[in-house]
Amino acid sequence: SSVMAKSKYEYVKTFEQDDKILPNTWIVVRLDGKNFTRFCEKHHLEKPNDKRALHLMSKCATVVMQEFREICLAYGQSDEYSFIFRKDTEIYNRRASKILTNVNSLFSSSYVFFWNIYFGDKKLMYPPTFDGRIVLYPSDTNLRDYLNWRQADVHVNNLYNTTFWMLVLKQSLTNSEAEERLRGTLASHKNEILFSEFNINYNNEPIMFRKGTTLLRKKIHCPPPDGKLKQVIMPLHSDMFSDAFWEEHHEILGCTSAPIYTGPIPDTL
Ligand code: ATP
Ligand code: ATP
Ligand code: MG
Ligand code: MG
Ligand code: MG
Ligand code: MG
Repeated sequence: SSVMAKSKYEYVKTFEQDDKILPNTWIVVRLDGKNFTRFCEKHHLEKPNDKRALHLMSKCATVVMQEFREICLAYGQSDEYSFIFRKDTEIYNRRASKILTNVNSLFSSSYVFFWNIYFGDKKLMYPPTFDGRIVLYPSDTNLRDYLNWRQADVHVNNLYNTTFWMLVLKQSLTNSEAEERLRGTLASHKNEILFSEFNINYNNEPIMFRKGTTLLRKKIHCPPPDGKLKQVIMPLHSDMFSDAFWEEHHEILGCTSAPIYTGPIPDTL
């Protein structure tokens, strides 16, 4: 306060670290649930994919994007979400700890605030927490590779988890027996187990489980008679590996404003 501003104690402020982020670099904030293996057990989440939990994560990420207008893309899978700030953002004067702590805090409190919307009467047993980090990427290629890395991660993990839980839930293998069965298997082998033993074509599994969720800013037409344009945070389950994705959504790398979206509109919006 102004009363203390000129005090002899004021010098302690100079001990604070300057953590201003390099200009003109992509800022990625990634949050990840702390020990969500335990959190999922304690709340009896469905294995391998509890839709409610994934939708809650995307709700929290949407709240974050509504508050922080300079996030141009968010990508989530499992218990993690990544937020990409435009490379020219001047938010909080690019101070890393301000950005990271405010994003994490809003996301975490939203998780608790909206819990019952997704889980009804199921009681939240303890306060969930998330770790957070900031990573900077100087080039568009680095940024795309980052997202490819996270999307490849959900592919590898989800194929494994889908096969693992089929063996446990449908063939009554113990966890360690299922682990043993899958040790060293290639993707093609897991696809084959799913197909021949469980009649599951992995490519027909829900796309949200296989691809994760990408949130983008778009404008859509309200239903007639109004027909006005409104800004929305659009959830997509797209492949981000392809050039086609980056051409279709050119506003991301181009740092331009939300374009009109005419594709299919998900009912969760
Ligand atoms: P910033 O985001 O920059 O921190 P701020 O509005 O939180 O903005 P602070 O300098 O942190 O600014 O001041 C906290 C504000 O909250 C003050 O206006 C203070 O009077 C008010 N406040 C905090 N705790 C209480 C309380 N227990 N009762 C009444 N007012 C409070
Ligand atoms: P850490 O604190 O190191 O992150 P963790 O237990 O959270 O520990 P992760 O690598 O983040 O480890 O893994 C997340 C865990 O949460 C995995 O076990 C994953 O299967 C589970 N999980 C996350 N989301 C869901 C979901 N929607 N449905 C079912 N399980 C989920
Ligand atoms: Mg982790
Ligand atoms: Mg985790
Ligand atoms: Mg994780
Ligand atoms: Mg304050």
